[in-house]
Amino acid sequence: MRKAVSHNFPDRLPEKCRKHRLRITPQRAAVYEWLCRSDKHPTAEQVHAAIKRRFPNISLDTVNRTLLTFARIGLVEIVEGYGSPRRYDPNVQPHHHLHCLECGAIIDCFSSSLDNLKIPARISRQFKIISKKVVLTGICADCRRPSRPQRKQHIQRRGT
Ligand SMILES: [Zn+2]
Ligand SMILES: [Zn+2]
Repeated sequence: MRKAVSHNFPDRLPEKCRKHRLRITPQRAAVYEWLCRSDKHPTAEQVHAAIKRRFPNISLDTVNRTLLTFARIGLVEIVEGYGSPRRYDPNVQPHHHLHCLECGAIIDCFSSSLDNLKIPARISRQFKIISKKVVLTGICADCRRPSRPQRKQHIQRRGT
């Protein structure tokens, strides 16, 4: 399995904003930068909690709208299929996800064998495949550790 490299996509912000005639405000830049630094597929609330330290007046609504705008212009992806709250992914390159059923973690997974997964002809005949994303569900290493002091709450944790 290829190891996930730390996200380094900040160059895509000016490029995408220019293309979609979107102004780059310091808040928008901060939201995107923070998302790129996180590999946890955070929720809008988690992004908001982090950004608030630098922009105390920024509202959750603004962060929400910013993330949805980013998703609309293809700068980030909404991670599908995990119910609410929505989770965001700064990595729009093809990759796969490991989803922990205990703590809700979504871990990036880079694997050429999964990329090259053969689709049975029966399926590709009835459905034109454009992209493939494999989601493996299970229990992450942290949650399998027996001495884990307390259940992590990636999703429920809220900023104050
Ligand atoms: Zn876990
Ligand atoms: Zn991802």
